[in-house]
Amino acid sequence: MSEALGAKPLVGKTAFTAEEEAAAPAEAQHLGGFRLFRGRMKEGQCPECAVVHDAEQPHNQQSLFYQYSFREKHGRWPTWADAMAHCSPEVKAFWVKELATFGVVVGGPGKPVEECVEAGAEAFREGKRLQDVPAEWSELERAAWRRGWLQTRREEQKGE
Ligand SMILES: [Zn+2]
Repeated sequence: MSEALGAKPLVGKTAFTAEEEAAAPAEAQHLGGFRLFRGRMKEGQCPECAVVHDAEQPHNQQSLFYQYSFREKHGRWPTWADAMAHCSPEVKAFWVKELATFGVVVGGPGKPVEECVEAGAEAFREGKRLQDVPAEWSELERAAWRRGWLQTRREEQKGE
């Protein structure tokens, strides 16, 4: 009936006031205005990744909902190893093999937030274009690059 309403979790960019921004948890301030809005879940939807899957299966590491939800709790972006941390050794082994066929190597935990932010900012300072940054870069690293770009644009516009 009202299934369509609020069933989908939203990851949205919204305009926050300076006060709201300052009141946000420190880790959320790294997200450049992005916040996770937890909508109502459909039946069977996993509360961690918002994908319908059996509890013994991995979360979908590619789900934006999962990435933001995980980051909210752990202060860093999830890897596939995180996404299957709750799985049995058999299930893990299956997915490690399955993901390998897509060229995905299941490694350890991801980089800490500060490292991501610094890497993104540095790439921008070095004059790297966003399309040249490593494909495995997380949204956080990309966001740090964009922030550098935005600041430069603003300074240029002030100078004009
Ligand atoms: Zn899940």
